Amino acid sequence: MNARNIASISALTPTQEGILFHAIADDNRAAYHSQFSARIDGDLDSARWRAAWDRVIARHDVLRTLFTWEGRDKPLQVVRERVETPWQTLDWSATSTDEHPAMLDALLQRDRDLGFQLDRAPLLRLILIRLGPERQRFVLTFHHLILDGWSMRLLLDEAQHIYTSADALPGHAPSFTRFVEWLAARDTSGDEAWWRERLSSFDTPTFPQVHDGTATDNVSHHVVTRRLDRSEADTLRRVAREQRVTPSSVVAAAWALLLARYAGTDDVVFGTTVAGRPPELGDVEHMAGMFINTLPLRIQTDANATVADFLQSVQHAQAEQRDMEASALSVAQRASGVTDGEPLFESILVFENFPAAAALEARNIALSIDHFVEYSHFPLAILAVPDDPFDLIGISDPEHLGVPGLTDLMDNLRHTLRSLLANPGARLTDVSTLASEQSLNVLETLNDTEVATPESTTLWHQTAAHAEASPEAVALIDAGGATTYRELMRRANAVSAALLEANIVPGDPVLIVGPRGAAAVSAIVGVHGAGGAYVPIAADAPTARVTRIVAELTSSGRTVRAIVAGEHSATLPSDVQHVDMAHVETTTRAMAGPNLSSAAYYMFTSGSTGTPKGVEVSQQNLFHSVHARDGYYDAPPATFALLSSLATDSSVAGLFWTLGRGGTLLLPAERAEQDIAGLIGFLDSHNASHLLTVPSLYAVILEHAGMHGLPMLNVAIVAGEACPESLVDAHHRAAPKRQLHNEYGPTETTVWCTSARLEPNRPVSIGRPLVNTKVYVLDAHQQPLPVGVAGELYVGGPQVATGYVGDTQRTAAQFVRSPFAADERLYRTGDRVRWRRDGTLQFVGRVDEQIKVRGYRVEPGEIEARLCEREGVREAVVLLHSATPNAPLTAFVVGTSTLDAA
Ligand code: AMP
Ligand code: MG
Repeated sequence: MNARNIASISALTPTQEGILFHAIADDNRAAYHSQFSARIDGDLDSARWRAAWDRVIARHDVLRTLFTWEGRDKPLQVVRERVETPWQTLDWSATSTDEHPAMLDALLQRDRDLGFQLDRAPLLRLILIRLGPERQRFVLTFHHLILDGWSMRLLLDEAQHIYTSADALPGHAPSFTRFVEWLAARDTSGDEAWWRERLSSFDTPTFPQVHDGTATDNVSHHVVTRRLDRSEADTLRRVAREQRVTPSSVVAAAWALLLARYAGTDDVVFGTTVAGRPPELGDVEHMAGMFINTLPLRIQTDANATVADFLQSVQHAQAEQRDMEASALSVAQRASGVTDGEPLFESILVFENFPAAAALEARNIALSIDHFVEYSHFPLAILAVPDDPFDLIGISDPEHLGVPGLTDLMDNLRHTLRSLLANPGARLTDVSTLASEQSLNVLETLNDTEVATPESTTLWHQTAAHAEASPEAVALIDAGGATTYRELMRRANAVSAALLEANIVPGDPVLIVGPRGAAAVSAIVGVHGAGGAYVPIAADAPTARVTRIVAELTSSGRTVRAIVAGEHSATLPSDVQHVDMAHVETTTRAMAGPNLSSAAYYMFTSGSTGTPKGVEVSQQNLFHSVHARDGYYDAPPATFALLSSLATDSSVAGLFWTLGRGGTLLLPAERAEQDIAGLIGFLDSHNASHLLTVPSLYAVILEHAGMHGLPMLNVAIVAGEACPESLVDAHHRAAPKRQLHNEYGPTETTVWCTSARLEPNRPVSIGRPLVNTKVYVLDAHQQPLPVGVAGELYVGGPQVATGYVGDTQRTAAQFVRSPFAADERLYRTGDRVRWRRDGTLQFVGRVDEQIKVRGYRVEPGEIEARLCEREGVREAVVLLHSATPNAPLTAFVVGTSTLDAA
C-alpha cells in the first residue's frame, strides 16, 4: 500500500464487518452493491457536474476508503488522501430514444456485474449519459461498505449545491471515523440481555417458503417493483397519521402478515434497517457513511387482533428497538433461540427514509431518481421507497425465489397493504393477503374440473349389466382359477338372498372376513345386491381390533352381520349375526340392487385416539370415484392386478373399475408379494394389463420383472404413499412406452382425488384434481395460499365421503363447510401440498403424526393408546424409525416402575 497517500486508518463498525464477511464469501455476486439511476433534465454543463463530484469525493473520507483484511486479525478501513474519480461519459443522442431503456438496462446490468475490488478506493462509479438536448442520465453505483441510501441522497444534494456555486460547502465534511470511535466507546453491557428477553424463545427462522419449480441460478438477483399510485400512497400516510404510527410501521405490518402466511406461522422474525445516526454525535446529518444497521424485528400475528391493534404492536416493537440501534447483529443472533450457524432471519425489509423529496433542483437542472436497487446477501429483500411514486422493490436470490414467485409475492405485498389500509377495524384473519388474480387462479382456474356426469347408476347395476350382456366373460381369476360374470353374479345373488332373509336394511354393515379371493369378492357384490355396505376385515386382523370395529358400527345403531369368506384368524364378537352362505347356495331370485344414497362400504382406518375410524362411503361416492377413471384413463382395464388388501381402500379402485367395466380382476393370494417371482409369474400368465400398488412394492416388481417380465402391462399405478423420483426413473428405464400414474387420495375422498402421469426427468407430482373435484391449499386460518407455498389440502366434490360412522364429532372436525361455496363440504386431508407453477400439486408431507406403513395408514396415537393399556406402561411414543421403505415402527415406552424409582 502506498503509505504516502494515506489520510487515516480505522477499525470497521460491526455492520461493516458483517458486510465485508458476506461480500468476500459471495465473491462475484452483486451482494451489497447499490445502484442509483437518475434523469437530469435541463441544460447540464457536464464538465461542471464532474468537477462538482470531484469536490464531493474530496470532502468525504468514505468516498476515498478501501478495506484491507488479508493477514490481519481484524480488517481495517484506510482512507486515501486523493483518489481518481471513476467517471465515464457516454453519448447516446445519436440513437433513437426508443432504444434507450433497453440500452440502460444492459448498462446497469453490466455495471453491476463489474463488482468492486474492496482493497481499491474509491468503492463507487459514476456514469453520465447524454441522451439528447437537455436530457441526461446519471448512474451511480457504490458498495454498501462505504455508504447507505441516506448518505447517497446527501451526496446528490451536495453535488447539486456545488454545481450551482463552487464554494457552497467547506473543503471537508465531518468524518465517518467519528462514528466508528463513538461506536467503540458505546456501553454494550446491556445489549445481550435486551435481545435475549425478546428472542430467546424464537428458534425457527422465518422464510417465505416458495417452491414452485422456477428457481434458477443463472443471474445474481431478480428484481420486481410494485408501485403504489399517488392516492394509495396518500391513503397510507393518512391512515398512519390516524392510527398514530409511522408509514414504515404500516409497511412492516403488511410484510409481517404476508411473511406469516407464506411461512405458515404466527410468530415471525425479519430484518429491518434502522438509520443508526446517533443524535449525540453532533452534525451527524451531514456525514456520509454506512450508518444503517440491520436488526431482527419479531412480530406476532394474533389472528383475532384488529388491524389497528396490530399496527400499534408493530410500531411499539420498532420504537423500543431505538435504544438498540447501535447494537451488533451478532449479539442479537447469539441471544436468540436459533441454533449457531443458522441465520436468525432470511428476509429483510428496508424502509428507505431519504431526506427531502424525490426531485432536487439546482440552477437550471432537475434531477430525479427513478431506479434504485440495493443487494444484500439475504435471500429476500424488500425495499420500500416512500418517495413519489411510492415503490415496493423485491429483490430475491434466484436460487430461493424465481421471477414468477417474486412477482406473486410483490403483488401480494401490495395487496396486503391495500387490505390493511382499507379497514383498520378488521380482524387479521379477515385481511386478504392474496392478490385477486392469484386468488382466482388457485380457487377457480386450477379447479376448473366441471363436466356433465351421465345419469348415475350404482356399480352393482353396472356389473349386473355386464353379466347379463356377456355371462361367459371372465370376471376374476384367483389361485383357484377363473370365475365368469355369470358365476360371480350367481354366488353374489346367493349372498344377497341370505342377507335379505336376515332382514338387512339398506346401508347395514356386513363384515367380510377372510383373504383376497373369489369368495370375498362375490360376498362384496352380494352385500351390495342386498343394499348393504361391506366392511372388509383383513384375514390376519387381531380379534381386539375387530371387536373395536364392531363396537363403532354398533354404536351407530345398526345391526352388524358378518360373512366369513375363507380362512381368518379373528374371533368375531358374539353380537355379530353370522350369515351362513351354505344355506342359500343357489337362488333364482332377481335382486333389485342398492340405491345411490345408501352406504357402499365402511372402511376402517387408524384413529389417533385409539379407536379405528370407519369412513362411510356412499354408492353415490363410489359411482363418481369410478366415473372419474373414465375421464382420466385412456381405456378401462382389460386385466387388472389387484395387489392391495381388500381392507384398504386402494382395493376399491381395482374391484369396481374392473367389474363395473366388464374387465377381468386378477387376485393373487394374500401375501403373494412374499414370493415375488411367483407373483410376477401369475400376473404374466394371465396377461395383466393394469396394476395398482404402493410404490415400494412396485419398485420390487420392477427390479424382478425387468424389461420383459410383464409384456402385456400397459398401465402401472402407484398410490397410497409418496412416490420416490428413483422409482419414476426405474419405471421409464424398464418400460419406456408404458404409462406410470400416481394416484393420490385419502379414503375419505373415495380412493383418489388427484392424479398425475409421471414422466421421466420431471419432478414427482400428485397432479390435478379429478373431474368435478375441487382442491384447495389453505393455511391454518383456511385462507388460500399462493402457488408454491405449502399448506393443508382440502378436497370438495362428489367423492367426499359421508363421514365417520357413529362419530359425529370426528366427522364435524374433518368434514367442514367450504369458505368458498355455500353448499360445499370439504374434507381436510391433513396432507401438506403446494401448487406448482404448471398447475399440478406436489405432495410435501403431513400436518400431523400420521404415517403410512406399506400402504396402511397408521396413527401412532392409536398404537400408543393400546400400549398404555398394558400393565406397567405409563407412557409410549411410536415413531417410524426412518423414511426408507419398509422401515419398522419403533415404540419407546416409560414403565410405571421408573416412576416409582424416580
Ligand atoms: P388412505 O386413506 O389409507 O388411502 O391414506 C391416504 C393417505 O395416504 C393420504 O392422506 C396421504 O397421506 C397418503 N397418500 C396417498 N396417496 C399418496 C400419493 N400418491 N402420494 C403421497 N401420499 C399419498
Ligand atoms: Mg387410499
